[in-house]
Amino acid sequence: MSEITDEILALKRQRGAVILAHNYVNAEIQDIADFTGDSLELSIKAKNAGAGVILFCGVRFMAETAKLLSPSSTVLLPVPDAGCPMADMAPAEEVKKYRDAHPDECLVAYVNSNAGAKECVDICCTSGNVDKVLASLPADRKIMFLPDRNLGTNMNRKTGRSMGLWNGCCPVHDAVTPEMIRRVRQAHPDAEVLIHPECRPEAVAEADAAMSTAGILKRVKETSAKEFIIVTECGILHRLKKENPGKKFYLVEPAPVCTDMKRITLESVRDALRDMKYVVELPSSAVERAAKPIQAMLKI
Ligand code: 13P
Ligand code: SF4
Repeated sequence: MSEITDEILALKRQRGAVILAHNYVNAEIQDIADFTGDSLELSIKAKNAGAGVILFCGVRFMAETAKLLSPSSTVLLPVPDAGCPMADMAPAEEVKKYRDAHPDECLVAYVNSNAGAKECVDICCTSGNVDKVLASLPADRKIMFLPDRNLGTNMNRKTGRSMGLWNGCCPVHDAVTPEMIRRVRQAHPDAEVLIHPECRPEAVAEADAAMSTAGILKRVKETSAKEFIIVTECGILHRLKKENPGKKFYLVEPAPVCTDMKRITLESVRDALRDMKYVVELPSSAVERAAKPIQAMLKI
């Protein structure tokens, strides 16, 4: 183990901290985390952590979600401005304006949204539970889905609903074209193609199945297939390779990289625990309002 890893583990013990990491962060961060998972798994872990300090290795909306679910814990985000461009495509003021203008609609927010936007919506979802969340709403209920137009369109096609769509997207997944998938499939015709539903519908149409990062990890473990084309952020390959040593994985080219996720480094984690920074703070009135749609989602 490296010196910095030892330092982190000692600080973690001293602070009584739990380290949570998303499947997209750098491999060395995943390796020191207590738990690595997708947005849904991380929300559940954060809720049940029971730790005085939660160090979140991911982007701001994820650390905010942890704070909303564990308001009495100190939640630390090692890089305070590691954000999500898609979440920023639904500014709180605009979501509030939409809410006020459409009081009868059900607003469903992908968890990849900022706390201010969550304050104005009825229920949240992740890519891991979006099917269940939508199935819980009456078929004729008018829905506005935000901020991911790709996930929304993919779900409209899958469920036959006609949800209204906010005009946001994840730039990392939106950049994947059907041609990029076809090229790698041509080179590896026997590989199963697993894609994240934040990709465009025309890219999803090229794949064998669409699912969250935890869904991809589960599928690879369970199937007898030996080769996979993974169409999501490249960080997921670390766990895929570690957990499935006999299987082969290919990415589309150029490989999808979320630069915000990659900003979390061992140094930033060490400094965060040493200096107890950067504390995620939300006004208490906002915590109450923004926690509601996440709790509604977790009840389903
Ligand atoms: P999941 O890990 O929940 O599938 O989310 C993907 C993502 O883009 C997180 O930022
Ligand atoms: Fe946001 Fe996309 Fe990065 Fe996820 S991968 S944090 S949705 S920019």
